[in-house]
Amino acid sequence: MPSSLRILVTGGAGFIGSHLCERLLDAGHEVLCVDNFYTGRRMNVAHLMDDPRFELMRHDVTFPLYVEVDQVFNLACPASPVHYQTDPVQTLKTSVHGAINMLGLAKRKRAKILQASTSEVYGDPEVHPQPEGYWGNVNPIGTRACYDEGKRAAETLFFDYNRQYGVRVKVARIFNTYGPRMHPDDGRVVSNFVCQALRGQDITVYGDGLQTRSFCYVDDLVDGLLGLMDTDDTVVGPLNLGNPGEYTMLQLAEAVIRLTGSRSRLVHKPLPADDPRQRQPDITRARDLLGWEPRVALDEGLRKTIDYFRGVVD
Ligand code: NAD
Ligand code: UDP
Ligand code: UDP
Repeated sequence: MPSSLRILVTGGAGFIGSHLCERLLDAGHEVLCVDNFYTGRRMNVAHLMDDPRFELMRHDVTFPLYVEVDQVFNLACPASPVHYQTDPVQTLKTSVHGAINMLGLAKRKRAKILQASTSEVYGDPEVHPQPEGYWGNVNPIGTRACYDEGKRAAETLFFDYNRQYGVRVKVARIFNTYGPRMHPDDGRVVSNFVCQALRGQDITVYGDGLQTRSFCYVDDLVDGLLGLMDTDDTVVGPLNLGNPGEYTMLQLAEAVIRLTGSRSRLVHKPLPADDPRQRQPDITRARDLLGWEPRVALDEGLRKTIDYFRGVVD
């Protein structure tokens, strides 16, 4: 395999995608970043623009894309509930039509392709922690379904393109990931709590705050994505990638207040529909197959995230 590859990153101007583009360039590859800027921003990749091996293209993956690449990381899809529910039909089209187009491209080029799937395929899980063998508990007609079912259908397409056409696929199920370059208005819990704390605003805890999530720092997650892409063609996944450290939203709020030194108070807001009660990855498979596990503890990752947001919030 040539040491320098041409790699397509869809959703590359988003939060995770921008970190991935940076790491791929650092490893000596050429990167084509494709994004329609629905939630992504040019400023996330502005520091890469002077690199002649980096190219940024505005394109919506629901339309065909004919480019010559060796690998595809398919990350294009809004990931925050407030954003993916703003235009649910477009969200579903992005997951399904986007997967079909990128799989068609990978088939034509015999390129390896990795799908950024999600822990949301487990829905509101009745098995805890969640192993990859669990089929999930998803409401197919609820307000989260455009995202959850879109990602589930994309997984089906990836496995069918693999079985039917021999496309070299990899499916990563990403659990809640946070870090620098999240949009201040992203709406997900870490960026909300950190921005609220830094601005001295009330911290908005939805419901009783006893629901849990497991938070993975972005550098660890990108290590996992790169490790999965580097496996041989027999490894298709799905593979859970996340940090097993599990916290209630009240614990997260307490940590953010402690680390920012904020005087913000907690206020409770209604719990959104179908909000999963608990979530924690079983990462046995990723440990065994990739020798991967997260290294950044929540406090350390939150400190880095807080430092970033200090520079961007008013
Ligand atoms: P993000 O919203 O910052 O990034 C998504 C990117 O995709 C944005 O740049 C957006 O403009 C782009 N995009 C959306 N629709 C598109 C389209 N039709 N065509 C081209 N580009 C499009 O979110 P993120 O957190 O960086 O998530 C990246 C990927 O990882 C997503 O697929 C998401 O579902 C998945 N994921 C993220 C998490 C997490 O906690 N961050 C968890 C599970 C899965
Ligand atoms: N496609 C694409 N880029 C490519 C090859 C295909 O966007 O380099 C799209 C193509 O428009 C098609 C989809 O991917 O709609 C699926 O391709 P496939 O070859 O599986 O299906 P077919 O073309 O036979 O419908
Ligand atoms: N949440 C919260 N306050 C906020 C934003 C989110 O309490 O300002 C809660 C939300 O209800 C959920 C958890 O935090 O229980 C994680 O939400 P997020 O949108 O970050 O991710 P997801 O629900 O998709 O895992």
